Amino acid sequence: SFHKSKGQHILKNPLLVDTIVQKAGIKSTDVILEIGPGTGNLTKKLLEAGKMVIAVEVDPRMVLELQRRFQGTPLSNRLKVIQGDVLKTELPYFDICVANIPYQISSPLTFKLLSHQPAFRCAIIMFQREFAMRLVAQPGDKLYCRLTVNTQLLARIFHLLKVGKNNFRPPPKVDSSVVRIEPRKPRIEVKQKEWDGFLRICFNRKNKTLGSIFRQKTVLSLLEKNYKTLQALQLSQGLVENKDPDMDFSRLGDSNENEAMEIDDDEMDEELDVEGGDAEGEASEFKDKILGVLKEGDFEDKRSSKLTLQEFLYLLSLFNKAGIHFS
Ligand code: SAM
Repeated sequence: SFHKSKGQHILKNPLLVDTIVQKAGIKSTDVILEIGPGTGNLTKKLLEAGKMVIAVEVDPRMVLELQRRFQGTPLSNRLKVIQGDVLKTELPYFDICVANIPYQISSPLTFKLLSHQPAFRCAIIMFQREFAMRLVAQPGDKLYCRLTVNTQLLARIFHLLKVGKNNFRPPPKVDSSVVRIEPRKPRIEVKQKEWDGFLRICFNRKNKTLGSIFRQKTVLSLLEKNYKTLQALQLSQGLVENKDPDMDFSRLGDSNENEAMEIDDDEMDEELDVEGGDAEGEASEFKDKILGVLKEGDFEDKRSSKLTLQEFLYLLSLFNKAGIHFS
């Protein structure tokens, strides 16, 4: 029997398994990481294509079944099974990751992979269709969101294959897609907490203009607090700023719930205009400073739903240059 909570949907279409393996572009020298091998339908083809497969599986019954399947075959000495939750497992070196994963771990797993060092060549992963479309969305697309920008900061992502429910046993409730994730080399360096704080504000209301988002009282007072804290710190430390980039991306992945809570429809706009209007009446030097930065980059009338990664990076650099920080 299958465990719903573990997302156990076994790939039953051998042609599809072949297509995934073929699209992965595996070399005979590759160390392959597989997540959630289940009964091993994909594992078998991966063993035939690469040098070694390291498979991480949480369910001990699946681990047993997998070992039994390859026992006594020439493939077994090139298979290493790690029993455990992939999110809690320290990952070994791998060249390429190929996986049909349980969908509930999509976001944290993606960020875990993308923070892994040394960076792998690519990951070929089956996701729920909507999650996949969020990953590959472009500015202006309906599904373009904070997750999109956060992942595209770290990787280039391509949609490879649409997969219908009936390719699985038991069939899941949703359609799926296979995507290819290529970590950026070199990385784009950002201070992770700065970046995260900045994007959370920008996507707080992704269809509002940045001008109205940054006029909100709550946003202004948060930024002003950061500003004053930093100024006091710099005064006491002789104006030295810590320039070390913070390369810990793990927090980017813990945002599943927040992602869902992002309000991206226009129905909320009215309420927000009132909120924005509240603060707008009050003249403030700090507010002028913020709006000055937005104007400098011509961002005041732009919306996060249409900004490219490069534009977000540029806007954050303008804020930081003006001494405005998000963490
Ligand atoms: N790869 C197989 C296939 O394509 O037929 C099975 C895929 S099934 C969608 C997901 C597999 O991941 C299951 O075998 C499940 O036990 C395992 N799994 C679920 N949560 C996991 C976790 N946190 N870490 C590792 N494996 C997990």
